[in-house]
Amino acid sequence: MSCPSHKRAYVSREQSEEALIQHHIHFHHGENNGPTNVYQCDHCGGWHFTSKAPLAAILQEEETQKRIKKERIAADWERKLR
Ligand SMILES: [Zn+2]
Repeated sequence: MSCPSHKRAYVSREQSEEALIQHHIHFHHGENNGPTNVYQCDHCGGWHFTSKAPLAAILQEEETQKRIKKERIAADWERKLR
């Protein structure tokens, strides 16, 4: 799948939201930088990240926030042990 935006495209909303969560786990974003949401592209039909939209509902869910915190701690340990 190629896209004129040259952004990475995901095949479904679920897949792009999961990738967005992973992105937030591995890159410690501040409030106002980094991708915040996903959208379906008019050009390729795939799903891309955007940093110009309000924070995705899934990222605001308490369950997701807990998961991000937990997985960040795990990722930090992996870094320290490397
Ligand atoms: Zn596209």
